[in-house]
Amino acid sequence: GKLSVDILNHEYNVHIGQHSYELFATEYADLLGSADRIAIIADEHVAKLHLPLLQEALQCTNREIIVKTVPTGESCKKPAVYIECQSFLLKNNFTRDSLIIAFGGGACGDLTGYVAATFMRGIRYIQCPTTILAHDSAVGGKTAINMPEGKNMVGSFHQPSAVLFQTDLFKTLPPRELRSGMAELLKHAFISDEEWTLELLSSPSFSQPSIEWLSTELLRGIAVKAKIVGEDEFEHSIRKYLNFGHTFGHSVEAACGFGGLSHGECVMIGMAYSLILSEQHGSVDEQLTNRFIDFSKTNGYLFEPIHEYSFDLFLSYMEKDKKASFGKLNFVLLDGIGRPYVKELEREQCEEAFNQLRLRA
Ligand code: NAD
Ligand code: ZN
Repeated sequence: GKLSVDILNHEYNVHIGQHSYELFATEYADLLGSADRIAIIADEHVAKLHLPLLQEALQCTNREIIVKTVPTGESCKKPAVYIECQSFLLKNNFTRDSLIIAFGGGACGDLTGYVAATFMRGIRYIQCPTTILAHDSAVGGKTAINMPEGKNMVGSFHQPSAVLFQTDLFKTLPPRELRSGMAELLKHAFISDEEWTLELLSSPSFSQPSIEWLSTELLRGIAVKAKIVGEDEFEHSIRKYLNFGHTFGHSVEAACGFGGLSHGECVMIGMAYSLILSEQHGSVDEQLTNRFIDFSKTNGYLFEPIHEYSFDLFLSYMEKDKKASFGKLNFVLLDGIGRPYVKELEREQCEEAFNQLRLRA
């Protein structure tokens, strides 16, 4: 499948399919041909598994394509790795007309995007994402690296020239990463479409998706993200809805010390929490939350962290979160599925919802 994304003056295509990389020889031959130099920045682990496949697909261009592998997963978003990538490009005489290709999950995509955004004040890049979660991260143009002070604290908006998912690569994803990506898919459903959400919540494919099913679903998720980002590129208004489940989810991620559960697994807990907050405002039915919690458990999502840590610990992380401006806690709640809104909440309400979640999950 293919979807055209239009964000202000940047228009690009997102492709999801079993043979997407074949497009390098056709649709993207001109783009590759117009670059004086090309580099792949690849997640080390993904490179070991799949780099030959990408390199083979790129043989259609007659120039040498150099490869820089970076530490796997989140550890590639360290400032030191960012600097290494810049030096690598400079040593290899890259210019403003060069092109880079990101090959890995959302972390490698974020790093590569930020390298591209800032190398010589900005060069073109292509996303070749290899995780399900990247249907979220590879579209929209947010790029970033982490600082010792916090995640994604240095970054910029820089749209890719194209996004190509080759779906076979999903086959090697560990279950934890599969669950992570599927949670974000469900998030896109929750903030946009009741029928689709209920469909997902009763789908046997959710924890063992076939490649065909997944392709269709991911395109739907990307369409939601693209529409929102297209209307609000810089997160002044509706882009905030994409943070559904993330205020609490991020605090769970932080409490687990980044590594216990995957990002999406934490967001799943965060969505359950947001549903309970929505209940408190009379805008979501108790049964929906219960159904969601059941569904999560049946599909392998864990709620251990909320039983293990205190509310105060989560609260301290939520207060540190950059979305909590001026000490206020902002949450995306639902006025029924498909109708998100942002609500500022007091500590008492947050604690009450936490206790509820503990009892029910
Ligand atoms: P990731 O990039 O850290 O990858 C997770 C793990 O899966 C890594 O160890 C990686 O080596 C491995 N992996 C990747 N593809 C694989 C494959 N095909 N087979 C086997 N293993 C594979 O994680 P992610 O969940 O893709 O992305 C998370 C990152 O995305 C975070 O840094 C987050 O901040 C960022 N993000 C960015 C945005 C955005 O809008 N820019 C949105 C959401 C998330
Ligand atoms: Zn997320």
